[in-house]
Amino acid sequence: MVGLLVVATLVPVPGRTPLLSIRVSDSIEHMRGVGTRLKKVGITDLDGLAALNRREVLAIPGIGESSLVTIVAALASTGRSLAADPYASYTCARDSAPARDSELRSYFLCEACRQAFSADAFSGRDPEWISGEQIEGYCSHCNTETVVSLTQWFLCGTCDRVIRSLGRGIASARYVETQWRELLGDLAELELSEVDPVTLQPRGLRSDPNRVATADFVARSANGSARLGLELKSGRSSLPHGGVGSPMAQFQLDTTDCDDIVSAASDLEAPVFLLHAQVIGRAQAPTERFVGVGLWFARPWDMIDNLVDVRRRPRETRDAAYYKTGMFRPFSQFVTYLEDEFDQDEAIMREEGFPLLYSR
Ligand SMILES: [Zn+2]
Ligand SMILES: [Zn+2]
Repeated sequence: MVGLLVVATLVPVPGRTPLLSIRVSDSIEHMRGVGTRLKKVGITDLDGLAALNRREVLAIPGIGESSLVTIVAALASTGRSLAADPYASYTCARDSAPARDSELRSYFLCEACRQAFSADAFSGRDPEWISGEQIEGYCSHCNTETVVSLTQWFLCGTCDRVIRSLGRGIASARYVETQWRELLGDLAELELSEVDPVTLQPRGLRSDPNRVATADFVARSANGSARLGLELKSGRSSLPHGGVGSPMAQFQLDTTDCDDIVSAASDLEAPVFLLHAQVIGRAQAPTERFVGVGLWFARPWDMIDNLVDVRRRPRETRDAAYYKTGMFRPFSQFVTYLEDEFDQDEAIMREEGFPLLYSR
């Protein structure tokens, strides 16, 4: 209320515009308003005020968001605005919103991926900078060996992590297709197809609550009927019996991912298997390529028997199910599994439905 009163007493005068009417500044002791507080820090007119930015105005003792509204309105009434803040947060290209941790993030990208990022995920925003240097190397997104350029956008930490993990995810999907061809090539009656290829999207689009959970891959018989689904997870670590480096102690899977597998299976009316691909980076300086070095599958009926517990992930708000890694078998055994056990599992699913993957 006090602030509005100050604005009401503004009288534009050619030349320097008084911030406050004489009456206001003459009666500081009676008028504990915005103008009084500004005068205390030596700001006596609108020119002085317009030289400040939003952050500097809010730093003045006694000035809060509501006083700021008053000040912005007073400036606007004379066609002015607050100065731009040289230390303002940068706008994250993917979120289209300023973020405190938004900074220049650099990726080696091929031209196709660069254009797709701008057009599909960054609301048409061009990169802040593209290196003039054309480098023979690997695109960090599509993992193709081609001509790439170092490319920068302003992005927040979360979006940067999403982008980096997508490159690994795409390489991982290609790895599954290669392994499938190599190991199951002779079982020609099963045709594998990727259902929901990974693409970079604006934030929020994939978290649509109405989206239908689907498996990442579906294998169909020659007559087109779905026989099984594959849900792919990928990471840097290995599991027992294969891969590179020491295997992880436990396997964690978000409970929402477990729920997605269950609903994908009932939608598909076929078993869905969890796959873990170990995908590591190999340097081809200055770029890096992703290489699949290990692949494992878990039979859904083995999952609950290997459940250790369900708990909140550290520093996150999501629950995860923790499993013993013993539920996984090397993917090289998938052919034998299909030949020896799959028919029986299919029959169990027809009879009893898809199994629970965790319980609290
Ligand atoms: Zn690319
Ligand atoms: Zn972001």
